[in-house]
Amino acid sequence: MSKALVWLRRDLRLYDHHALSAALKDHDEVYLCFVFDKLILDKLPKEDKRLTFIHQGLEEISQDLSKHQSDIHILHGDPTEEVPKLFKKLKCDALYLNRDYEPYAQKRDESVHKEIKKLGGSCKIFKDIVFYEKGEILNKQGEVYKVFTPYKKAWLEKFNDTYGGVVPQFKVNLKNLAKVTDLKKSIKDHDWHKTLGFKEDPALLTGGVKEAKKHLKEFKKVIDDYEKARDFPAMKGTSHLSPYIRFGMISIRELLKVGIEGGHKVWTSELIWREFYQMILSQFPHVEKKSYRPEYDNIKWRGKKKEFEAWKEGMTGFPLIDASMRCFKETGMMHNRLRMVVASFLCKTLLVDWKKGEEYFAQKLLDFDLAANNGGWQWCSSSGTDAQPYFRIFNPTTQSEKFDPDAEFIKEWCPELKGFSKKKIHAPWNADMIEQSEASCTIGEDYPCPVVDYKEKRHEALEMYKEGLK
Ligand SMILES: Cc1cc2nc3c(=O)[nH]c(=O)nc-3n(C[C@H](O)[C@H](O)[C@H](O)COP(=O)(O)OP(=O)(O)OC[C@H]3O[C@@H](n4cnc5c(N)ncnc54)[C@H](O)[C@@H]3O)c2cc1C
Repeated sequence: MSKALVWLRRDLRLYDHHALSAALKDHDEVYLCFVFDKLILDKLPKEDKRLTFIHQGLEEISQDLSKHQSDIHILHGDPTEEVPKLFKKLKCDALYLNRDYEPYAQKRDESVHKEIKKLGGSCKIFKDIVFYEKGEILNKQGEVYKVFTPYKKAWLEKFNDTYGGVVPQFKVNLKNLAKVTDLKKSIKDHDWHKTLGFKEDPALLTGGVKEAKKHLKEFKKVIDDYEKARDFPAMKGTSHLSPYIRFGMISIRELLKVGIEGGHKVWTSELIWREFYQMILSQFPHVEKKSYRPEYDNIKWRGKKKEFEAWKEGMTGFPLIDASMRCFKETGMMHNRLRMVVASFLCKTLLVDWKKGEEYFAQKLLDFDLAANNGGWQWCSSSGTDAQPYFRIFNPTTQSEKFDPDAEFIKEWCPELKGFSKKKIHAPWNADMIEQSEASCTIGEDYPCPVVDYKEKRHEALEMYKEGLK
């Protein structure tokens, strides 16, 4: 009788799952495990919405497995030790997992692979979290694409040539799951938050496949308007699926099916941006620590700590920036347009190194994904592959007037500005004393004065970039 262990990581679901599907086909008895990785968790502040979100996803998996008299083994520690230990204890023949392209994960998986080999087992790794990975989409010279539009064109051509426009999925037949009913520390019966030293911290979104599917169902009702609505934070025109995608609580093939087969080109394009950044990270791992374009590492950032703190706290005096950052601090979520605006503001108006902003996002984003976050920041700071040119600088006031025209989003997160007229609320420092009094908001007292002068800083940013890029 052959036995396999499937190690779930950023693929927390039991359907359309490449590694699980293969293990259940190849083996008579299949176990599942998940590791709370000490090496990651020990570095985090002890309130983290992502831990609770993952926990909710695992609880659902455990409930679903119990219908088959099975369960998921929950481990805590260094995965390179814990996974082989469990593998040995269960007397498995093979370890199955889906590939993760982050440099830390690559190293970790190599070490686990070696340990499994030492135990006489085999390790089988599958492509799952993206549709096309690493070097699968190449140009005519056999090189990796560094620009998104031709990458997307080649991606779609390859897809249509291979699959005729129909997205394939992996069938998962849970029949061969091993019977597991006596776990001492199952996800349901043990207080894992306490063991891990974390406080329970629920996000606005609840983790798990059922919730992901609910969001997808809701999004399908408005998907036809995506192209028009997606840039307006007050409109809820996007899918809100990113945390579910990040933790694999919904399969990327299911989403591509909705996008491609439904003819929703703009949304499909966003899913392909995600693949593009995963590919960039796997092919150019230096981006994790440095600019994709090395000359951008010569820039001497002039921003001050005080301004960085004001940005983090949502106290810069620029309403759209402050509303975005306050919303982010409280919820761990931020709309894509706002991520672009606040990132550009940090590096091109406050002149603070984009890596500091990237790190702050990484600590707090519910959907934090190294490839997408790094790609987004390098796009905004102009240091990335297919980035915005350095001289393109978002004006926070015009972005605000354009994308939050009725200031609905601003009023939700900066309620002290509610009394200003539609004309003044985007730049309240222009309101005279009478207007401020009528709005019951004194600038400099009830709401901060702008921390910098945008026009001056724009000029300084161009100078700073030019100097660094000489
Ligand atoms: C500075 C910055 C940092 C970012 N950090 C992250 C991050 O850590 N994790 C993350 O998932 N996305 C990140 N993004 C991309 C984007 O902002 C989010 O994916 C999006 O806001 C999620 O909302 P949604 O699920 O409603 O997206 P939708 O508009 O419904 O898009 C569907 C899915 O496509 C993918 N996607 C959409 N836009 C992008 C993009 N520009 N790059 C890569 N994938 C994309 C996401 O998986 C998203 O869930 C970042 C963007 C910027 C500018």
